Amino acid sequence: MAIRTIVTMGDEMLTKKCRPVTEFNQRLHDLLDDLKDTLAQAQGVGLAAPQVGILRRAVVVINDEDEVIELVNPEIIFSEGEQTGPEGCLSVPGKCGMVTRPDHVRVRAQDRYGNWFETEGTELTARCFCHELEHLDGHLYVEHIDHFLTEEELADYYRQQGYELEEESES
Ligand code: ZN
Repeated sequence: MAIRTIVTMGDEMLTKKCRPVTEFNQRLHDLLDDLKDTLAQAQGVGLAAPQVGILRRAVVVINDEDEVIELVNPEIIFSEGEQTGPEGCLSVPGKCGMVTRPDHVRVRAQDRYGNWFETEGTELTARCFCHELEHLDGHLYVEHIDHFLTEEELADYYRQQGYELEEESES
């Protein structure tokens, strides 16, 4: 297991359509383990293989129960509702933008051994499934936004949502 380097916007790896995984071998297991380690170190909620320079359809997502889910050859089979909120990406460090996504998403995928399963998520997890699956087709969330949020806009958003900002709760 190892921490891999996360490529950032501008790298052509992030613009390519990834190929399906066809061999559920040690190489895939190493990739998934590395994705999990790299995600943990980066303190993110999701990471896709192309973000570490591997053009294969594999992602890891931390769901709202704090479980790390490995999704190989994933596809969204159902979605409903709508949510609009700030979204960021480990490949676009230090920035975020407002993106509208479905509020509830169901995904069908294979596990590391090739077994098909289904999983679902709402709110942040649904957003994360949509975001990570887009990476597999060479797309970034920035295609959905007209500008990156300023710190002030982000602070306003959280204030409107009723969150106390850290600076305020510390005082
Ligand atoms: Zn991303």
